[in-house]
Amino acid sequence: MFDVLVVGGRVAGSATAILLARLGYRVALVDRDHHPSPAVSTHVFGDWAAFGRLGVLDDPRLASAPALTRFRTEVEGCATEADLLATPYARALRREVLDPMLIEYAGKAGDVTWYEGARVAALLRDGDLVTGARVLVDGRPVELPARIVVGADGRNSTVARAVGARAYLTRPRLRLAYYAYYTGVAGAALPALEYYWHGSDVVIVAPCDGDLHCICVMPRDDDLTAWRAGHEDRFARVLASIRTLAARLAGATRVGPVHGSGNLRSHLREPAGPGWALVGDAGAAVHPCIGAGIDHAVFSAGLLADTVHRHLTGGESWTAVTADYRDARDARIRPACESAVRLAGRGALTGADARWLQVLLGMPGSAHDLGSRAVDVLRTIAGDDAVARMAALIGAAGTPTRAEETP
Ligand SMILES: Cc1cc2nc3c(=O)[nH]c(=O)nc-3n(C[C@H](O)[C@H](O)[C@H](O)COP(=O)(O)OP(=O)(O)OC[C@H]3O[C@@H](n4cnc5c(N)ncnc54)[C@H](O)[C@@H]3O)c2cc1C
Repeated sequence: MFDVLVVGGRVAGSATAILLARLGYRVALVDRDHHPSPAVSTHVFGDWAAFGRLGVLDDPRLASAPALTRFRTEVEGCATEADLLATPYARALRREVLDPMLIEYAGKAGDVTWYEGARVAALLRDGDLVTGARVLVDGRPVELPARIVVGADGRNSTVARAVGARAYLTRPRLRLAYYAYYTGVAGAALPALEYYWHGSDVVIVAPCDGDLHCICVMPRDDDLTAWRAGHEDRFARVLASIRTLAARLAGATRVGPVHGSGNLRSHLREPAGPGWALVGDAGAAVHPCIGAGIDHAVFSAGLLADTVHRHLTGGESWTAVTADYRDARDARIRPACESAVRLAGRGALTGADARWLQVLLGMPGSAHDLGSRAVDVLRTIAGDDAVARMAALIGAAGTPTRAEETP
């Protein structure tokens, strides 16, 4: 009998296992994949408070991806660049490095039994109460009983489906995502996360570990048929059509295939019920245009570990502690989900609008005037709520100590 069975061993699952094992619980961690293996995901993250709880910040594998301290936005050839706001720096560590690193920490954190190549086929139940899972370990059936089963098994979660977890805040897919790795890209002056709006496409560029750049093109969802008919060609054509990016790719070579994902609906799910809980994308999947899913997964793992501890050791009722879990998770992820939907939903900036942007950013006086009236502009175009949200961000991160915070 395990205290907790965690289904899914990548960011959400491993983080949950690390924290629960450190609290002294007996944990089974199962994943149908063998590791190291890639996930269909780009991988920018930067919630260092959440990662700090895992005790991984000094691991040299993290530092093998450059610290991204800058955010560069280019809209139809008009560029702005600034220090990152949400965090002093972010990193883009490939999942085939990040995920095994976290699995390794889980293995060292305490009493964790790791099963890979282990697919959960069904849940064990006693009436409504979930009591474990039936797992196929490399095809061989094994029953793993547990006091609590955690679904950390991604946006198509088997656990969520089996318990019938209600979805809310469901949003359509809006944009597809295709990405590939390149070597030999001419780097930016300072490592930056780059965001391009070009026609109806969004392109995100991040230097990552292995001296690679990860480049992701996010076409609008209604372009799906055309992309399916020849995604590698279309990917190359989009990159070639962005003048500033094409110049930096002149000496670059693509490494490996162009990966794609069309399954990018956003949703939150009811995160717990009798004997079960959900964490990471299984419980809250947000469109990746804001690159927050990994941070959300690790942050929610911290909340869930505290929740389980309050119940198993503190004796508080599962219903009460999981209501708090849902509130704390949603307080962070709901606004992010809505902001991702707004971001992904923006279309092309065309004609006169693009020319006026050029006027604002292509002339130093106008750009300076924009700076001196930025809060008025933001209030006019985005409303008081947006000003309040941004003011909170500036309070948290926009300080002159930024350079010292950079590793
Ligand atoms: C194209 C794309 C780009 C993205 N870019 C970013 C980004 O730049 N930054 C960012 O923060 N986030 C990004 N995301 C989101 C990010 O990938 C997810 O938020 C993150 O992977 C969630 O982690 P997780 O551990 O919850 O789930 P996952 O990473 O999906 O892991 C779930 C694991 O569960 C296993 N599993 C599933 N079913 C079973 C079963 N029945 N039995 C056993 N194991 C099972 C799977 O094999 C998998 O290993 C992106 C997503 C996509 C699709």
